[in-house]
Amino acid sequence: MTERTAVPFNELRPKVQAHRAAIDRAVARVLDRGWFILGPEVEAFEKELASAMGAREAVSVANGTDALILALEVKGIGPGDEVITSPMSAAFSALAISRLGARPVFGDVDPVTMNLDPSTIGVLITPRTRAIMPVHLYGHPADMDPIMDIARRHGLIVVEDACQAHGARYKGHPVGHLAGIAGLSFYPTKNLGAFGDGGAILVNDPALAGRLRQLRNGGQSEKYRHEILGTNSRLDDMQAAILRELLHTLDAETARRREIAERYFEAFRGLPLGLPEEQAYARAVYHLFVVKHPRRAAFVAALAARGVGTAIHYPLPLHLQPAYASLGGKRGDRKVVERAADEIVSLPVYPELSDAQVGAVIAAVKESVNA
Ligand SMILES: *Cc1c(COP(=O)(O)O)cnc(C)c1O
Repeated sequence: MTERTAVPFNELRPKVQAHRAAIDRAVARVLDRGWFILGPEVEAFEKELASAMGAREAVSVANGTDALILALEVKGIGPGDEVITSPMSAAFSALAISRLGARPVFGDVDPVTMNLDPSTIGVLITPRTRAIMPVHLYGHPADMDPIMDIARRHGLIVVEDACQAHGARYKGHPVGHLAGIAGLSFYPTKNLGAFGDGGAILVNDPALAGRLRQLRNGGQSEKYRHEILGTNSRLDDMQAAILRELLHTLDAETARRREIAERYFEAFRGLPLGLPEEQAYARAVYHLFVVKHPRRAAFVAALAARGVGTAIHYPLPLHLQPAYASLGGKRGDRKVVERAADEIVSLPVYPELSDAQVGAVIAAVKESVNA
């Protein structure tokens, strides 16, 4: 037997290596200038990001969680408000709601896209409901039209969690376009990832952008004049300089993610494996490639034995998280997400995978699927 090609679930070193010279120049530029916070790199990055994402403005912050907190806050969400969101996400989505003293209310998910199912929202609306926060999970946009419809009918705010969906499109519109406000994360493994923490809010209303720039910097309108109660959530110039370099490569990396996904679709069609499906309204960016297997533990073990790393996004729906026990969620409440959470497996899909590695994943999946 020939030696197998190992495929770690994710690896950042190849990305650093691929862009090392440009990154070194960017870091040197910041060091030589000696301006490290809210400097020219941050200003330039915000303009370039907004333009690349089809948004009017981008306001950078310290991480994706803060992007969601500040987006909700600037739209007026606060203590006692209820925000309907997805139970299948990084817990940070819901934690952003909780951080404002508001209460996350979990719908159920669509069994194919794993995004918030719009048909589960209506029954959750109460006089305290103020907002809906869909999550474009795995890089596949949530079904925004019905969500915007419900929001319009009930006078609700919509904030998009686009932390996994840089550059994704819904019916040709970039994420953030329909709601007018979206949070992005630049956590290192995200499609656009810094070499540290970072985040941004995409926003179409320049007045809101101005207010967000105040909020992230202590509420200052000018130096040492604090107009509103802000916080400290700033992107630093080092990360901004690195992100500017990586932003140039995002389109090519998204194309590579889509190409890998296409190879998986072709190879896995007909296997007893639940596959993601790109919906007619969507242009997905494949932050993750998530399949479903009814005997997941055996499938994962067989893949591991063949050198293929996997991960689970996410093993515990948010209504069942210990931190949310006080909300009273219990098993059986959200049947679609609970069943899916036991079957989902994420396969490697990062753009630095070689063709040989993609081939190794395909071979290993074919051999492991009946494990
Ligand atoms: C990563 C992520 C967040 C949080 O972003 P951080 O930068 O880690 O704070 C929020 N929501 C989703 C869906 C994410 O994937």
